[in-house]
Amino acid sequence: MNIKKNITNITERIKNATKLYARSPDTVKLLAVSKTKPLTMIQDAYTAGQRDFGENYLQDALPKIETLSADPNYNDIIWHFIGSIQSNKTKTIAENFSWVHGVDRLKIARRLGEQRPAELGNINICIQVNSSKEKSKSGVTLQELPQLISEIRDLPGVSLRGLMTIPANSTLTTPESSSVIEKQRKPFRELHKALEQINNNSTHASGSTETDLDTLSMGMSGDLEAAIAEGATIVRVGTDIFGIRETNNR
Ligand SMILES: *Cc1c(COP(=O)(O)O)cnc(C)c1O
Repeated sequence: MNIKKNITNITERIKNATKLYARSPDTVKLLAVSKTKPLTMIQDAYTAGQRDFGENYLQDALPKIETLSADPNYNDIIWHFIGSIQSNKTKTIAENFSWVHGVDRLKIARRLGEQRPAELGNINICIQVNSSKEKSKSGVTLQELPQLISEIRDLPGVSLRGLMTIPANSTLTTPESSSVIEKQRKPFRELHKALEQINNNSTHASGSTETDLDTLSMGMSGDLEAAIAEGATIVRVGTDIFGIRETNNR
């Protein structure tokens, strides 16, 4: 597994997509999803210049975070929690991560804000939207979104940054044809539209002091081109950097 080469390739894919879809290259951040992968792979990615890492499982992530944060060579890593969040885990998440991408309940956001150590500053959160309408997937519907946004926006300790989604069928096919990408774009387009609507409504409300939401966390190994086409600002890439995961988990 040549992590450095994989990162170079992904960076190239991101660059090509930004060029193709007329995006400025520095508006798309690569989040390396290191869930289930060993510390040494994170270190290799770090050496290749990667700084943002995403983890889904606390027991798996915490030893890695502890080791690397105790090492001055790695003290500028930014950890993102991208898994599903149980409310009894919010304290540990608030203490160890700078970003949480999968928030879909007010209770979780409130606890993250309350339990965030003040010296770390606000925790950045994205609300997860269920764009596939499958019952089994977490996330709020586009209909539920405005209400949750307004409830979360002014909570102490959290900075609401934007929206996140995992479409159905974001499987491991590297998009090889423009017709595949075309199909993949639809849920991402909807998420982008939702973000714009939220920003328009809040800036038009009189006396609003709300800052614009600036983050669309969308796109993975198999659909990052489609996500960039529709305005992704963070793409979350695991497999194409660290290889296939042994366990079939998300
Ligand atoms: C695992 C995971 C990813 C990475 O997916 P790949 O297909 O391996 O690139 C991205 N986002 C979330 C939320 C994940 O759970």
